[in-house]
Amino acid sequence: MKTYRIAAMGGDGIGPDVIKAGCHVLQALAEKNGSFALSFQDFDWGSDYYRRTGRMMPADGLQQLEGFDAIFFGAVGAPDIPDHVTLWELRLAICQGFDQYANVRPTRLLPGIKGPLRPDLGEQIDWVIVRENSEGEYAGVGGRAHRGLPIEVAMDVSVFTREGVARICRHACEVAMARPRKHLTVVTKSNAQRHGMVMWDEVCAEITAQYPTLTVEKMLVDAMTARMVMKPGSVDTVVATNLHADILSDLASALAGSLGIGATGNIDPSRKRPSMFEPIHGSAFDITGKGIANPLGAFWTASMMLEHLGEAPAAAKLMRAVEMVTSRGDVLTPDLGGKATTDQVTEAIINAIRGVNL
Ligand code: ATP
Repeated sequence: MKTYRIAAMGGDGIGPDVIKAGCHVLQALAEKNGSFALSFQDFDWGSDYYRRTGRMMPADGLQQLEGFDAIFFGAVGAPDIPDHVTLWELRLAICQGFDQYANVRPTRLLPGIKGPLRPDLGEQIDWVIVRENSEGEYAGVGGRAHRGLPIEVAMDVSVFTREGVARICRHACEVAMARPRKHLTVVTKSNAQRHGMVMWDEVCAEITAQYPTLTVEKMLVDAMTARMVMKPGSVDTVVATNLHADILSDLASALAGSLGIGATGNIDPSRKRPSMFEPIHGSAFDITGKGIANPLGAFWTASMMLEHLGEAPAAAKLMRAVEMVTSRGDVLTPDLGGKATTDQVTEAIINAIRGVNL
C-alpha cells in the first residue's frame, strides 16, 4: 500500500488549528478508503520559531522538506513581525526554492454558502485560476536610488521569460483539458504593456495551439474583472501573470462567499519537488485561540493535495463531505453564520466520511 509522506506546517495564528483538523480528516479518509496511507510530520516553523531563533525556518529547511510528497501549509504572518520577513523567509522561500511555478486556485460557490452575487449568477461560478508564481511583476527585480531626495527614483521591473510563460501556459492547458468544458481564457494587458505582455500573448498562442480540442480566448485583465461579476458562467480555466492572477483570485474568493473556505496549491508540475497546498485565508489573529476557525478551507486544501497525489476518488469524496456539511448548514463556524467550533465542524466532516448521516 502506498504511504504518502506529508509535511504538516501549521505556521501562525489559526494555521496550526486548521492544519491539525485537516490531518484528522485526512487520516479518517485514508482509513475509510483503505488503499493508501498517510504519514504526517509536523514542522513548527513560522513566527514563534522566528522569535526563538531569528529565522522563519532552519537554514537547511528546504533540504528537510525535499523528500516529502507534499507540504500541507496553514498560514503565516504576525502583527509584530514585518510581512517581508514572515512571507519571504518561509512561504515564498519554499515556493521559490522548490520552483512551485504554478499557483492553482479553484473557486466554486459551495451549496448553502451565500456570495455577494445574485444567486443565479453565483451558482455559475466554477473556475480554476492558474497564476504564474515565479516571475513576472513579482520577480523582485528593480531598485531605488536617491532616497529622500527630490530626484528619488524607484523601479520594479517585470520579468517575463519565454520558458516561464510557456511552462505556466502549458500547465493551464493541462488543467483546462482535465475539466469538462475544456475552455481556457488567457488574461493579458498587451494593449498597454507592449513588451513583456506582447511576448506573453505570443508564447501563449504557440502553446495553446498544441491543444486543438481546447477552446482558447484572450481577454484584457480589466475586462476580465467585469466578466467574472457579470457573466461568471462564461469563465472556466484562466491563466494570468503573477500580478493579474493575484488580483483576479482575490476577486474570485470574494465572489465565492468566504475567506474561510477557499484553497490553493503551489505546484511544481515537473513533480521533481514537493508541491505545497494551503487555505487562502491568513493567520486571522482576531480569532486565534478561540477554537472557532473555519477548517473547511483546510479540508478543500487537503482535497487538492490528494488529487495532486493521484488519489482523485478520495479527493472527490472529501469535497462531497464538505458540500454536504455546507448545504445542511447546521454545523458551521461563526464566519459562515453558524455557532459551531472548529472541532465540531471537523467531527461533522469525519462522520460524513465514515458514512454516518450520508
Ligand atoms: P494575514 O495573515 O494575511 O495578515 P489576516 O490575519 O488579515 O491575514 P485574513 O485571512 O486576511 O486574516 O482574514 C481576514 C479576516 O477574515 C480574519 O481576521 C478573520 O476574522 C476572518 N477569517 C479568515 N479566515 C478565517 C477562517 N478560516 N475562519 C474564520 N474566520 C476567518
